[in-house]
Amino acid sequence: MPDGAPSPLLDVLLGGGRRAGSVRHVEVLPAREGVRADWPSWADPQLVAGYRELGVERPWAHQATAAEALHDRRHVALATSTGSGKSLAFWLPALTGVREDALDRAAASVLEAGRIETAARRGSVLYVCPTKALAADQLSALERVLDASGRAAGGTKVDLRVATCDGDTGFEERQWVREHADVVLTNPDFLHFALLPDHQRWARLLRSLRYVVVDEGHAYRGVFGAHVALVLRRLRRLATYYARVPGAPGASGPTFAVASATTADPSATAARLIGVAPEDVLTVDDDASPVGRKTFVLWEPPELPGGDPLEAAAGLRHAGDTDAALVESLVVDPTAHDDLGLVDEPDAPAVVGDAPDRPRRSATAEAAHLLADLVASGARTLAFTRSRRGAESVASATQDYLRHALGSGSGSDGEVAAASVAAYRGGFLPEERRELEEALRTGLVRGLATTNALELGVDVSGLDAVLVAGWPGTRMSLWQQAGRAGRAGAEGLVAFVAREDPLDTYLVHHPEAIFDAPLEATVFDPSNPYVLAPHLCAAAAELPLRADELDRFGDPAHLRELLDVLVARGALRRRTSGWYWTHARSAAAMADLRGSGGPPVRVVEEETGRLLGTVDAASADGSVHPGAVYVHQGRTFVVTALEAGPSGELEVAIAEPGTVDYGTWSRTTTTIRLATEEPLLARTWAPAPPPVDGDAPSADGDVRWGYGPVEVTSQVVSFQRRHLPDLRILSTEELDLPERTLPTMAVWWSVPTGMLGDAGLTDESVPGALHAAEHASIGLLPLLATCDRWDLGGVSTALHVDTERATVFVYDGLAGGAGFAERGYHLGATWLRATRDAVRSCPCSDGCPACVQSPKCGNYNNPLDKHGALRLLDAVLALAPPD
Ligand SMILES: [Zn+2]
Ligand SMILES: [Zn+2]
Repeated sequence: MPDGAPSPLLDVLLGGGRRAGSVRHVEVLPAREGVRADWPSWADPQLVAGYRELGVERPWAHQATAAEALHDRRHVALATSTGSGKSLAFWLPALTGVREDALDRAAASVLEAGRIETAARRGSVLYVCPTKALAADQLSALERVLDASGRAAGGTKVDLRVATCDGDTGFEERQWVREHADVVLTNPDFLHFALLPDHQRWARLLRSLRYVVVDEGHAYRGVFGAHVALVLRRLRRLATYYARVPGAPGASGPTFAVASATTADPSATAARLIGVAPEDVLTVDDDASPVGRKTFVLWEPPELPGGDPLEAAAGLRHAGDTDAALVESLVVDPTAHDDLGLVDEPDAPAVVGDAPDRPRRSATAEAAHLLADLVASGARTLAFTRSRRGAESVASATQDYLRHALGSGSGSDGEVAAASVAAYRGGFLPEERRELEEALRTGLVRGLATTNALELGVDVSGLDAVLVAGWPGTRMSLWQQAGRAGRAGAEGLVAFVAREDPLDTYLVHHPEAIFDAPLEATVFDPSNPYVLAPHLCAAAAELPLRADELDRFGDPAHLRELLDVLVARGALRRRTSGWYWTHARSAAAMADLRGSGGPPVRVVEEETGRLLGTVDAASADGSVHPGAVYVHQGRTFVVTALEAGPSGELEVAIAEPGTVDYGTWSRTTTTIRLATEEPLLARTWAPAPPPVDGDAPSADGDVRWGYGPVEVTSQVVSFQRRHLPDLRILSTEELDLPERTLPTMAVWWSVPTGMLGDAGLTDESVPGALHAAEHASIGLLPLLATCDRWDLGGVSTALHVDTERATVFVYDGLAGGAGFAERGYHLGATWLRATRDAVRSCPCSDGCPACVQSPKCGNYNNPLDKHGALRLLDAVLALAPPD
């Protein structure tokens, strides 16, 4: 096939031309040859034999480079694509290191007749990844290597003790791990809540720690990333403390390997994560693994004519997937996060009042259509969705379409094809996951609808096509998912299917923003005081915090200020030797690593006391208020009470089963106040001075930007019952729920009244224009920062009490801020230009979910003025500096 010709599967996607109208762009990405290197001379021969036995004749060049640097005890940031074999690059030096120590020890114990502290002499390795499931996967992969090494050596078992250890590990097993394991696979939550606070009992492991592998490093972003960065600083501190014993293998502190997807600036990000200088981390991002040619299609689902009965059925199924019904959470164990940063978000447009003039088919429904055709053609395909519910919907709709097209009834082609389609997501049992992965490998399953759980290290190769239903949040994630298509050098097809959302719509119309733009940097801020404070307490509880080691945790001056506050509040005690934690309670319990805003609220069935599910504390007011409809695995419940515990925190929502023909939508009022007199950062876009000496530019005609701490106060005040599926309003009820305050960081821009008038806005149209601009800009910020629109909030007002002007605020949705608003401030002009382009290019007449409507608006998307927003953004951007 000529190099520039697209994949033959494109024809299947196009339905023989009938769907050609949905293609917005086709990009053919060339194949790349792999480059091999030799095994390093120091590599343990038995391990090498094991890898050979598994078919790895020689490593790829990037694997050898990274392994070599790690062996020289240099920190490495390894940022290459999915399937490029990152694990070999860190296991080879790490396991070789442990084996060398073991051999040294054997020699030493002969020499000194066992008088040596043998336990201190054997090196150890800690492997940290964001989910338990992934640690389990790594364990089995590692066991395969060790088994193969054993076989290669004629059945001699390799002397390495490998184990996972996390919240699920039983007491006796934990004890075995503490005393004997050479390699421990775990997650940041376990480090934070168990290993570090209990460090005396883990002294053997900490003292001998040679390597720390931080896998899926790109998952540590936002507030979670900041927490993990501080957990790793605490780990380094304790490892150094225990390794002060002379001669211990860990005496120089552990060497870190941070493996991640391809991202911008890997060494700077890794350095910030582990707390060292960027120049101390070597970047290895020159991917030498072979890649097959890929045909990459950008796809916009068609406008809905209405009338497709299957579509209508699918529509009904999706009708519940709106804000108020978004309360399903399968996560009961707070450390059981198998899908990364996943949000259960609506697939259906959040329609208000009149339906938008030509709604498009949802990305979920469209992906099901495409998946059905690809499966029917025999292609093995993954369809990535944005939510667990989305994965389930795509799988069942695909099965429906296959039955509809190929016949139903036992033994029919339709049934056979439908049986080869399944859903995959976090929350499955490990055996179920294994079984699905195996079925996909053997071809028993040909179509798999999945959450980003499969974006991670799971070893699935040999797929023909990948559908990405809804923007996965970052280009980084997109390439991870796309990397699953046509692996091992084969041809692959990838289609990104846009949702009705400003960002998705913008991207399918701007291929350069996908194919030419630089990758995102992973954004997180370990100096966030709301994150830092609890970790300083935890560190002080582990070992009293000395003044001379503050630089481990950040800028010492900043830390001293924070410590003074903690002392004043009675959290810590200052002594001449340092800061002490003197409370009986656990200091680690103060930090909420996953940023869920406190313990989740349990939803309990009234009559039986059965736990139906949990809801994030932060969203409980809006989703499980009295009267709210709660959907759990297809069954409907109505909440009768939302109860607080003794300390005022929400604890439990009581629900009873009910058959209702409506959904509920809550309304939230939100106000924002600047928390400081002056913003942290500020700038002005002023009109250019006139060419000749004339009138000075009107000082009032400028756009003022700010970034700084704010206080966001919100209250859920009422809710509507709306008939399903037409969303007709049945009733509105007041609610009596408390105000909640969120201290966070915001970016804002403000304009004077005169400028609004000049832009043709009237007093009546200003609020709608600001609100629409706010929504659209929130939708586009994820283009510039590694966040999700669900990580952000916004407030717009025609006259703000602090700025005294018309102002649009966009804030980080988590206490203390996450770094996203700050990115928005620094990239203000780029951000608002993309926002304006997205709104302008949307073909709707008065605003739709693809441009100015927001699925999470607390005000029912009212008022919204698309054309006003465009005039406003034009006026603002007229003063913007060029890109
Ligand atoms: Zn629109
Ligand atoms: Zn809104």
